[in-house]
Amino acid sequence: MEHLLGIKELSVNRVKDFLDRADYYTKALQSGKWDKEKLKNKVVLTLFFENSTRTVTSFNFAGLRLGAEMINWNAEVSSLSKNESFNDTIDTLGAMKPDAVVIRHKEYGAPIKVAERLDCPVINAGDSWREHPTQALLDALTIMQEKGSLEGLNVAICGDISHSRVANSNAYLLSKMGANIRFVAPSFFKPEEMPVEGIPFYDTMEEGIKDCDVVMTLRIQKERMQQSKIPDDNAYFKDYGLTYERLKYAKPDAIVMHPGPMNRGVEIAGDVADDPKYSRMTAQVANGIPTRMAVLDLLLSK
Ligand code: ASP
Repeated sequence: MEHLLGIKELSVNRVKDFLDRADYYTKALQSGKWDKEKLKNKVVLTLFFENSTRTVTSFNFAGLRLGAEMINWNAEVSSLSKNESFNDTIDTLGAMKPDAVVIRHKEYGAPIKVAERLDCPVINAGDSWREHPTQALLDALTIMQEKGSLEGLNVAICGDISHSRVANSNAYLLSKMGANIRFVAPSFFKPEEMPVEGIPFYDTMEEGIKDCDVVMTLRIQKERMQQSKIPDDNAYFKDYGLTYERLKYAKPDAIVMHPGPMNRGVEIAGDVADDPKYSRMTAQVANGIPTRMAVLDLLLSK
């Protein structure tokens, strides 16, 4: 049985398997031809203990497109509000024998603990600032559709690196696949430890974006910060917002990415985000479906 708890522990070949299958489903969704009963009679349980728009919806699309039944469990109306412990809740849901569980949780490592308790594949849909593996896979798919390969590309990941699971999973995946990652952020968003040794760190956008093929921007994860440490939105935009002016430092054919939700006028200017010449945000959202189809397929059809 295989889980998907993070990118860090995956081999290069397994990352390629996921990306190849995601590419297959991207094309299949366009042609309308794929096995729509691949996961017939499978029941997938989504457990979202943190809010989500894109991730939960695209897991549902993915499962339904493959014929699985999806059950969306809601933390707010569950017995957690009647003081049931997290482990008891997981054991209760596990007793119903789901074929797979997709979990998002604010605690670092929660999906790992859940995988230890359940006897079905567990897919991490984001835990604290640790990992968000399906986001990194869909980002890689998006970059490859544009640039052909990840090898040798310069990718700047900009913004609140220290609280971002997206930055971590992307750093693991893109460096495994031969891209050159850099982090660009004010010093207060520099992680204490780099996810991958040797990632260059820049504290100005102009230096950090220079000659990049891909500029990935990140939201300030205010929910994981002390109120007093949250920077002022306008001051942050002035120094670190991605504007046309700053984008000039990247390669002329650079693409701009953002995992969403974005905060216009904070980490990115609205006009850059809306400009189809640069922005690949819509493609990222669309790619969430074939990517999650690939993950459900490879983990559940065993
Ligand atoms: N949607 C992404 C995540 O769940 C990024 C974000 O929330 O800023 O980590």
